Amino acid sequence: MPMPLLGQMMDVPLNVSTLLVHAARYAADTEIVSRRIEGDIHRYTYRDCERRAKQLAQALMRLGVAQGERIGTLAWNGYRHLEAYYGTTGFGAVCHTINPRLFPEQIAYIVNHADDRYILFDTTFAPLVAKLAPSCPNVKAWIALADDAGIPALDAPLLGYEALVGAQDGDYEWPVLDERLASYLCYTSGTTGHPKGALYSHRSVYLHAMGAALPDAMGFSAHDSVLPVVPMFHVNAWGIPHGAPLAGSKLVLPGKDLDGKSLYELMEAERVTFSAGVPTVWMSLLAHVKSIGATFSTLERTVIGGSSCPPSMLETFEDEYGVRVIHAWGMTEMSPLGTLARLNWEQAQRPLEERRRLLRKQGTVICGVDMKIVGQDGRELPRDGVAFGDLHVRGPWVIDRYFSGDESGSDASPLIDGWFPTGDVATIDPDGFLQITDRSKDVIKSGGEWISSSELENIAVAHPDVAEAACIACRHPKWDERPLLVVVRRPGAAVTRETLLAFYEGKVAKWWMPDDVVFVDELPHTATGKLMKLKLRERFRGHVLPTSGDGSESA
Ligand code: ADP
Repeated sequence: MPMPLLGQMMDVPLNVSTLLVHAARYAADTEIVSRRIEGDIHRYTYRDCERRAKQLAQALMRLGVAQGERIGTLAWNGYRHLEAYYGTTGFGAVCHTINPRLFPEQIAYIVNHADDRYILFDTTFAPLVAKLAPSCPNVKAWIALADDAGIPALDAPLLGYEALVGAQDGDYEWPVLDERLASYLCYTSGTTGHPKGALYSHRSVYLHAMGAALPDAMGFSAHDSVLPVVPMFHVNAWGIPHGAPLAGSKLVLPGKDLDGKSLYELMEAERVTFSAGVPTVWMSLLAHVKSIGATFSTLERTVIGGSSCPPSMLETFEDEYGVRVIHAWGMTEMSPLGTLARLNWEQAQRPLEERRRLLRKQGTVICGVDMKIVGQDGRELPRDGVAFGDLHVRGPWVIDRYFSGDESGSDASPLIDGWFPTGDVATIDPDGFLQITDRSKDVIKSGGEWISSSELENIAVAHPDVAEAACIACRHPKWDERPLLVVVRRPGAAVTRETLLAFYEGKVAKWWMPDDVVFVDELPHTATGKLMKLKLRERFRGHVLPTSGDGSESA
């Protein structure tokens, strides 16, 4: 057997720290602007950020933190949180970002499961820390992201971030780490059962950042001013804290005030060109901009994902404000970016309606990720835009298994034939565009056929009187399940069941029409802003559909 001919190139490990090193050299004076929880605006540069990240690394090592140990964060988007990203992973510790919007019991579970050594927290979360501390005995100390004067009074082992960092000189070289080492730990929100940990490697984070930075993905440039609304405690703010330094983009970190007015003012003041967040955030931003009759003077494009972006929102951004919306899909288990909707050269020549039809979908994969849909028997389904199936993915930034709580990684593999089953149900069309129709547990099964709740919700929210809508399965004696639409009216609006149902005429097949509409004051959301359909299904379990009598209307 002849020896295989290996390539003869350097094997330089992909390390997270090199992203910041690059920015600190080539975008040294580019600003990182943060709205602090203290209320003021803080400004410094990538050069300053790298120095302070090194000081933090020195401080943590002096506290005895070893490589592989987890450091938790409970923090908003801000410069200290960014320092925590790099000051932990840079020397081989693991940055465990914690979502403070979860229930305290869930957070305590996560902290103990991750076995966090120290937890850095914004002082707005002091009451939460007070609740958590007694049930997290392995946390050696809680580090307040504040100077000495800002440290809250708490009955827990406490340290002050500024004092720790200020005591170090920053004279430190980042070590070259094995790229397979763990870098970040992010937990899924766990709507059913315990949250599960996705443990990223240096390599996966680096490759994800390069994929995210591609021109047709998030497309970061050194000319951009980037404002992640998506929190740094949620799947690494979709990779922006890595993609922005990679490109040398200016970063604008909005802190805790994520209402329309605060975001708009920051966007205008800092000449933001790119932003990213979930649909609910953009809903309040659009409402604010409309109410004051303003426009966006610098915003060029925004990535919307996490939940399905209603087509009406996409088109309002484009038609009324000239802002390009890029609809994206992903999940914690995918670091999180999977697909983004953007047109190739040929698709861009098609008529407007056809282009819009594509851009409303969740899009095509970033090179590196592979996807397919499979039927009940596990066989791959056609990419015809019609067949629905379970969505499976694979790629270098997709998890191989969940974090088991120790280093053994001994939990059963979630993979099926080397693919990760996402739990989403989708179609893939001949252009390769993914369209998520549901979470598999939310699909409405009517007489053995599947109805997409997502499509029915999109139609409802296109009605001018509807603020938000959820479509859930409701028991039906003949068809097993039929769609029930749960709607929140816009303030002052008077839309009725009949007018809303009439709005569906001609937009969907007759058998997809919701059987009933109920109006509520608000809809329940998860800690990451998704509709809590499980809760809604429980609430409307006993609901009697007007079609229950004979079933004929649903045929
Ligand atoms: P994230 O919210 O950052 O995407 P999560 O892991 O919290 O990550 O949630 C992932 C799930 O959110 C996906 O499996 C999918 O059900 C849903 N999701 C994400 N993006 C979209 C989207 N654009 N359209 C519909 N559902 C989405």
